[in-house]
Amino acid sequence: MGNLFEVKEVDKIFYDEKLKDFLPNKFIDIHTHVWLDGFRSQDEDVLSRAVTWPSRVAQDNSIEDLIETYKLMFPDKEVTPMIFSTTPERKREREANDYIKECAEKYNFPSLIFALPEWTGQQLEQRVIEGGFYGCKVYLTLSPDYIPEKEIRIFDFLPHHQLEVIDKHGWIVVLHIPRDGRLKDPVNLAQMLEIEDRYPNVKLIIAHVGRAYCAEDVGNAFEVLSDTKNMMFDFCANTNQWVFEQLIKAVGPKRIMFGSDLPILRMRTKRICESGKYINLVPKGLYGDVSDDSHMREVEGEQADKLTFFMYEEIDAFRRAAQTTGLSDADIEDIFYNNARGILEKVGHSFK
Ligand SMILES: [Zn+2]
Repeated sequence: MGNLFEVKEVDKIFYDEKLKDFLPNKFIDIHTHVWLDGFRSQDEDVLSRAVTWPSRVAQDNSIEDLIETYKLMFPDKEVTPMIFSTTPERKREREANDYIKECAEKYNFPSLIFALPEWTGQQLEQRVIEGGFYGCKVYLTLSPDYIPEKEIRIFDFLPHHQLEVIDKHGWIVVLHIPRDGRLKDPVNLAQMLEIEDRYPNVKLIIAHVGRAYCAEDVGNAFEVLSDTKNMMFDFCANTNQWVFEQLIKAVGPKRIMFGSDLPILRMRTKRICESGKYINLVPKGLYGDVSDDSHMREVEGEQADKLTFFMYEEIDAFRRAAQTTGLSDADIEDIFYNNARGILEKVGHSFK
């Protein structure tokens, strides 16, 4: 049996030279997807509301594959993931969430339920408690079908009646914000502030720094967000050093957490921005025919040979931002471990 994926010399050198000493020996990955082939939504309508390239990286990600990934990428570290499903097909939601529950129990990992917006507050409450989850993951493609993708708002897939229950228990929500404007979108910002204001006990984690992958996605968002007190940010699947610097300056090191978004972070890529749009540079042929995806571009020869993992690029971009903003070793320790541990301990008494 071969390894799950190849770790090349170029990866080993990158890790040894840039990341090994920067990373704490033990860290928490607050954002990972675990599922088995078949659970994922294959519905055309759902797929048309989301980008397609992530599905090229992995068909599934069993818990064993996730654990193997950490061994291959961080051979000298101990990583604890918080796990949740990928967006499940509605009719297979139960299987997808049951699998997460089973994996979480087996390995003692914290986990989230993937919630459907049509659940009543009581249903959500019951399912989270029954499953031993720490809260929920939600996603825009599960919004009611009649809403065009560009018009989806946060409360369409994270409704108030569910937020009330999450607030009551002080649970976690991992939120990937919708809309083409991304982090700078005024509707997103208004609703993020509304959650903070109306539901002060919700442990809200804004994923991917609000999808601000390019400088053009930021607008005045960090001015608006510098007034917030509670919401946290993970920087998963983001490699933008400048965005990270703005985030650090706006909210400080206590509200930022490391997340990966595995398995897509297994991808071999370097992300660039062109006219405000992100493009993943990938080795020619490695991810099939990508000609129909404007976020993917193939490269060849020496340029392709130099590409390492998306995971390493993300952490390295954060390392550079930490350096320019003067974060201390203790701050790095907070971002990669203590901040996540803090919220997990508040929610789950069993987390060790
Ligand atoms: Zn994700």
